[in-house]
Amino acid sequence: MEDLARKIREKARERGATILAHNYQRPEVQDVADFVGDSLELSIKAMEADAEIIVFAGVDFMVEQAAILNPEKKILTPEPSSICPMAWQLDPPIVEEYRRKYPGAPLVVYVNSFAEVKSMADYVVTSSSASKLVSKLDEEKILFGPDRNLASFVAETTGKEVVAVPLNSYCPVHIDITMEKIVMAKKRAPDAKVLVHPECPPETRRIADFIGSTSQIIRAAGEMDAERFIIGTENGVIHRISKLYPKKKAYPVSDDAICPNMKKITLEKVYRSLISNEFAVRVDEKIAEKARTVLERSFNLLGVEVPWRKK
Ligand code: SF4
Repeated sequence: MEDLARKIREKARERGATILAHNYQRPEVQDVADFVGDSLELSIKAMEADAEIIVFAGVDFMVEQAAILNPEKKILTPEPSSICPMAWQLDPPIVEEYRRKYPGAPLVVYVNSFAEVKSMADYVVTSSSASKLVSKLDEEKILFGPDRNLASFVAETTGKEVVAVPLNSYCPVHIDITMEKIVMAKKRAPDAKVLVHPECPPETRRIADFIGSTSQIIRAAGEMDAERFIIGTENGVIHRISKLYPKKKAYPVSDDAICPNMKKITLEKVYRSLISNEFAVRVDEKIAEKARTVLERSFNLLGVEVPWRKK
């Protein structure tokens, strides 16, 4: 494995390629990457990278998001069948249906959605920015999708009426991080702080010490005055916490909190991408342009500098 990792680094250097890996990737894929982070962070890293080729170890909507923000770069996915089942739960006909049903309600979509859906939305958010952006909107009724759990988290934290689009959308990994599993994990490590993702069910969130995105969970583990943590998100995050904070101990809620699609990407597939230029992901430029406009509007409302307007 070390030999293959070395060959990947050499080939990336030779080709002037940057390798990006999501926090949920296999440990060895995280270790070979130039940057590890969440989906939006990685899209921005792709923009900042002085590279024409980006190999993105993440699921379909993330690679597509990087392609939206980097139309002039070659964005490669090592495994095109690495999909996010949650993103697939919100498609354009569903958007149109909810727009008809709730005229006047702004549509806020989660970054875990496809370019066409983003292009039809009013705003795009991450799990860390969702509540902040929704609280800034004048309207009291908001359409939010996909993910009914994140929608309910936004409703709880903003006091607004948030309609999940579609009503039953969810992440199959986070929905299974149940309150019962947290209670069991707490029995094994009673002093550990519980850090969970807002895609977890409301009962799980209620007994957590901290709720945040993957990057916020990782930061919290470093900053909190505690030595042990139970991590209520995909288990790939544990590798990252262990590397960043070797003195702290992070435990999974259960061994099956694994996103099988994320784990489809292996070192062999990253290497294959680098030598074969496969598999390139492109987004129709008209759709990408509309999606960028929605993203720009969202950054502006959040008071965040738009990454592609930075001097
Ligand atoms: S963990 Fe859930 S939201 Fe994340 S990529 Fe996997 S299925 Fe999608």
